[in-house]
Amino acid sequence: MKIYNTLTRKKEEFIPLESGKVRMYVCGPTVYNLIHIGNARPMIFFDTVRRYFEYRHYKVNYVSNFTDVDDKIIKKAQEEGVEASVISERYIAECRKDMEGMNVRPATTTPLATQEIDGMIEMISTLIEKGFAYEVDGTVYYRVRKFADYGKLSGKNLDDLRSGNRTLLVTGEEQKEDPMDFVLWKPKKEGEPYWESPWGKGRPGWHIECSVMSKKYLGEQIDIHGGGEDLIFPHHENEIAQSEAASGKEFSHYWMHNAFLNIDNKKMSKSLGNFFTVRDISEKYDLQVLRFFMLSAHYRSPLNFSAELMEAAKNGLDRIVTAVRRVEELDAKAAPGELDPETKEAVDALVCKFEEAMDDDFNTADGIAALFELVKLANTTVTEESSAACTAYFREKMQTLCQVLGIITTVSEEMLDEEIEALIEERQTARKAKNFARADEIRDQLAEKGILLKDTREGVKWSRA
Ligand code: AMP
Ligand code: ZN
Repeated sequence: MKIYNTLTRKKEEFIPLESGKVRMYVCGPTVYNLIHIGNARPMIFFDTVRRYFEYRHYKVNYVSNFTDVDDKIIKKAQEEGVEASVISERYIAECRKDMEGMNVRPATTTPLATQEIDGMIEMISTLIEKGFAYEVDGTVYYRVRKFADYGKLSGKNLDDLRSGNRTLLVTGEEQKEDPMDFVLWKPKKEGEPYWESPWGKGRPGWHIECSVMSKKYLGEQIDIHGGGEDLIFPHHENEIAQSEAASGKEFSHYWMHNAFLNIDNKKMSKSLGNFFTVRDISEKYDLQVLRFFMLSAHYRSPLNFSAELMEAAKNGLDRIVTAVRRVEELDAKAAPGELDPETKEAVDALVCKFEEAMDDDFNTADGIAALFELVKLANTTVTEESSAACTAYFREKMQTLCQVLGIITTVSEEMLDEEIEALIEERQTARKAKNFARADEIRDQLAEKGILLKDTREGVKWSRA
């Protein structure tokens, strides 16, 4: 497998730190609002990376955080007159709903910055001890000039950055030794959440969060660190400076960055008014369509969001799902028989094409093209006369490739509320008629689907397990 590494600006063969295992960290969203479709791009893409590694039999430890302490969260909390945690908890819950709709699997661990403050204090202390950080009046800064490799990820030169920034010093930051030094710990301001620390009450800077959460859940060295390309500088550059200065080891071996999502060929921004949340899109489309749309382009190419492209994605996805379901139906009633070697070879060649695309820096666009070829082959080859071995082979391969891309092909097995309520009513009628066998049968049938019943004075109440 080859991965384009932002650090070396080359495609490199993937060699894990530990054979058969992948340790991967992806910066998650700051939770002060519903996530927008730009945020959805890294979520969907890196979820697919994880799925493909698993398909290749790697055990993946995938960590992706929520940044739940930040200026924007605090501002929103002040506007609403509530605690910051009310805002962050609300939008974490909303984000999880959107992720589920996009079939983005929850990470192995999803740490929250506010739950990891001890680790941050510890790493900041280490940096101070090693001379990589200094405190002035309750603020701790990272001493950029002490870290010789500063700029290695973004390719920026510290002297250029410094001259560009000298005039940009914000009031209150005159105390910095160098304009490029960045904040590790900032003192508390009135009305803001704070924690006790050796430097007084305050809260951590954004960059230190990821260094600490990555270290805690994945160890000092990881295989892959990912995020959108806007994070290369300063966020990831600063993460490297913190983690490598603290541990003395290389932090992440591969750095992967997705390009931006634009709208109507313009940068998506609130001020331009061309801004969609994932929730907006869910009103018009199944979020599966959004997922498929995102994967239809290579992750390092900018992707333009437009109504036409979403329609095209919807049609493409329908074509795939319809084909898989047709093969599933034919497979359920196919008569026993052999799979002829030529058909097997043709299917294998397309699976191989899919793998080659994905092995080449996760080229999902070409991977989808191979899947479309497989769909076409299935539509022309698999018929009512096909043997069970043939239908099963197509079914299995098509389902597997769909799973790697996170395309759901099965009809939802979840029961609708109306179906549940109808069954409960039938059960009540059966009980009144003293048909307890039928009543118990319905209770069991519902239990199997994870529906729990509770008899109360007001009648039967139900809940999903
Ligand atoms: P944020 O909540 O701004 O920290 O962003 C969370 C993630 O979404 C980061 O990996 C960003 O790089 C990514 N991101 C934000 N906007 C876009 C966009 N328009 N296109 C692609 N990725 C984005
Ligand atoms: Zn981060």
